Amino acid sequence: MPTNCRLCSSSNTKLLFISKNMHGQHLLSNEEFNVLECKNCKVTFTDVDANSDFYNHYYPENYYDKFQGNKLIEGLLGLLEKLSFKRKLGLILRHKPEGNRVLEIGCAQGKFLNDLPSTFKKFGVEINANGRRYIQEHYPEITVYQDGIESENFSGCSAKYDIILMWHVLEHIKDPSAFLQQLSSLLNKNGVFIFEVPNRNSLGFRLTREKWFHLDTPRHLFHYNQISIKQLLNHQGLKIIGYSGNAVDYWHDFATSIRKCFSTKIPIINKVLYFILFPIGFTIRSLVSLISAQTAEINTYVVKHSS
Ligand SMILES: [Zn+2]
Repeated sequence: MPTNCRLCSSSNTKLLFISKNMHGQHLLSNEEFNVLECKNCKVTFTDVDANSDFYNHYYPENYYDKFQGNKLIEGLLGLLEKLSFKRKLGLILRHKPEGNRVLEIGCAQGKFLNDLPSTFKKFGVEINANGRRYIQEHYPEITVYQDGIESENFSGCSAKYDIILMWHVLEHIKDPSAFLQQLSSLLNKNGVFIFEVPNRNSLGFRLTREKWFHLDTPRHLFHYNQISIKQLLNHQGLKIIGYSGNAVDYWHDFATSIRKCFSTKIPIINKVLYFILFPIGFTIRSLVSLISAQTAEINTYVVKHSS
């Protein structure tokens, strides 16, 4: 019996491969998940039932831990983080309408919102209690909401937002159509929605398939490309006005995907591979991101209302 698409319910789906419970380079269990492609709406999806136990079960405590390396790598990471913020701020300032109400969905510990100019009125959604507590203690100027925008308990819907931001959240959302419908209703008439997702058509996905860093099965429920994102947005009266590759964030993704393909049982060989692959991988993925957004590991979308 065919597995129906979890986005459009079509039975015209095809099994691409089977993937383990893998986060980045960490194998979390040997459970296996089917990854399928829908021939109708073009989305790729993980065949898993994201029920109420799913989130407790599959989000390990170290899920949000940062990559750690030596001093040189950490110095470089700091530089990349600054470049990343500059790029995102540039996008926001280029596209922002007159108003200054900004909402970040999945704002973690509020660092991004805090770094934005103080002229913005800042709001965040964070379901993690530790993240919310950190914001309340350190950044009193940020209003942080506990419930997601799709929840009937979301308490931030008394006024609309001029800018809505979302970095690497959409791929975790179980019902993206309903979610984007709600988001669209919260976005001001001239407002801008800027978000980022891993790209299923990336060089990394094409070359490494079930070893792809951003697969993160079963937590990433959907694996989007430009076509599936465009359809999803259009159905909610939203249109893409900007589309680009992100050359700086997740600098180690492509190298990690390739390394997983050549991983051996001999630790020293893996270590040597690590040092050879990371600078080469970073150079390749950054150049690809700058030259061709369609092949970049991560895509950034700038979105407005269609009319
Ligand atoms: Zn579909």
